Formats: sequence, structure tokens, C-alpha cells
Amino acid sequence: MLFRYFCGLLVLMFSLTLTAQPLFDSHLHYSAEDAKTFNPQKIIHLLDNSAISYAAISGTPSVHLSKLYHLAPERIMPILGVYRNSTDKSSWTNDKTLIPYLEKELKHGYWAGIGELHIFARDRHSKVFSNIITLASRWQLPLLIHGDPAVIDKLYEIAPKQAVIWAHAGTFPYPDLVSSYLRRYPNLSIDVSMRDERIAPNGIINDEWYELFITYPDRFMVGVDTYSTTRWHAYSTAVRTIRNWLAQLPNEIVQQLAFGNAAKLYKISPIFKGEEGIKDVTQ
Ligand SMILES: [Zn+2]
Repeated sequence: MLFRYFCGLLVLMFSLTLTAQPLFDSHLHYSAEDAKTFNPQKIIHLLDNSAISYAAISGTPSVHLSKLYHLAPERIMPILGVYRNSTDKSSWTNDKTLIPYLEKELKHGYWAGIGELHIFARDRHSKVFSNIITLASRWQLPLLIHGDPAVIDKLYEIAPKQAVIWAHAGTFPYPDLVSSYLRRYPNLSIDVSMRDERIAPNGIINDEWYELFITYPDRFMVGVDTYSTTRWHAYSTAVRTIRNWLAQLPNEIVQQLAFGNAAKLYKISPIFKGEEGIKDVTQ
């Protein structure tokens, strides 16, 4: 622990001189409010300034994200949001118009995932939720879920092979709990966006999280989560915070968390890139 504390301090002191590790931001939002302040070019500029090689981004409504994606299709992974306006966030599990909307959007062929779905345990039996899971499985797209552990259990009951990204390490981000879910569900990945304070209180990586990353190096991804425009304003600071705790891990694991795991999930590295890209496997 003391040794790691010392290393952490060194990283803090010299972080400005370190070469930036390529980073895949796996949890971003670009919505109507953000678009009023930041046009797509400005977003790309922010990503460039923080040496972000790739970004998985969702948006409400999807039209602004679509413009951003078409500006830089080689580095933006567009995640199809299920909310068309800000009130949908609390009512989508009962919205029967959602599935036809998603089916129509998916036909564009460029979506790289579906989400972020905010869902409580009490809503896990929703028909709309199970239809979205079926849709994601059919299109072989990862689902980004912000939800309770029982939601993850229900999802894997319906679709055991579905790729899922559990946003923010779940609603109860305790290393023991996260570890048991990773053991139970091999297609579950974790994004640790917004958990920097837990992972590295005062900038020094916590022992339990360190062990968790070492035990499951191929299951974690990092992200800033620009849930508000203020967060976009603070983007470079948020990225620096992530880079600081990442740099306290062994090099090989840094590469996996910072880039490799997300690249594999979104099939973008040369090794995993499919010739035909994303397609509906039922057609
Ligand atoms: Zn989010």
C-alpha cells in the first residue's frame, strides 16, 4: 500500500510530463442542450485536446449525435439512445412506440450499441425492456445499462450471450459485488465512469479496486460520462483524473482498461474489425 501511495504521488507530480496513453472514452452523451454550446467540430476538438482516440457516445435526441458521428465516423461509436426527449428517461419502460422507433433507426446501419438505459429493479419485467434486449441480440449490439443488479440478472435470463456494459460499475459499485457479477456473466463488461473518487480517493488507487482490475483486466472500460453540458466544459480535467489513477496500474492493464477492452467490444482494432461492419444478422 505504501509503495503504491508513493507511486501515486509520483504520478501526480509528473503526470504532465507523461506521454498520453491512447484512450477510448466509453461513456459520453451529446444531447440537445450540449449542442447549443458545442457544435460537432468543438466536440472533436475537445476529444483531440485530451488525446481521446475513440469515443462511444449516446444522445437525446439522436439527431445531434448523428451529425457528430458523420463528422468523424472513424472514431465515434454512436450508441442509439432510447430517449427522444428528457422526460422519456423515467417512462420508457412503458412506451410501446419505442420498439418501432428503434427498429427504424437501426436500419441506418451505423449504430454501434444501444443505450444508455436507466432502469430500476422494479421495472425489470417490462415488456419494452425485454424487446430491446431481443433487438440488441438480433443486431449483435452491446447494451449500455445503468441499473440495479437485479436488472442484470433479468437481462441474462433473457439473453445469456448478450454483450452488456454495466454503466458506473452498477448502482451499488462495491468491488465484491462487481466481482461476483463478472464471475457469473462472462459477457458483462463494466464501465467505471463517475467512480473515480471511489476507485482513487484523493487520487491514490484503492487496494480493493486495484485487485479487481488485476483479477479481471479484460472486463473494465473507462469513461467521463458527460451527463450535462457542465461536464463537457470540465472534460479535460475529468480525463486527467482518469489518467492519473490508470497510470498507477501495471502497463499491460492500463492498455486494456484505457483502450483495448472497448476496442474489442466495438470491434474496432485491426484484429477484431469485421469486413462487413455492423449488420442485422437476421437479414
Ligand atoms: Zn451516462
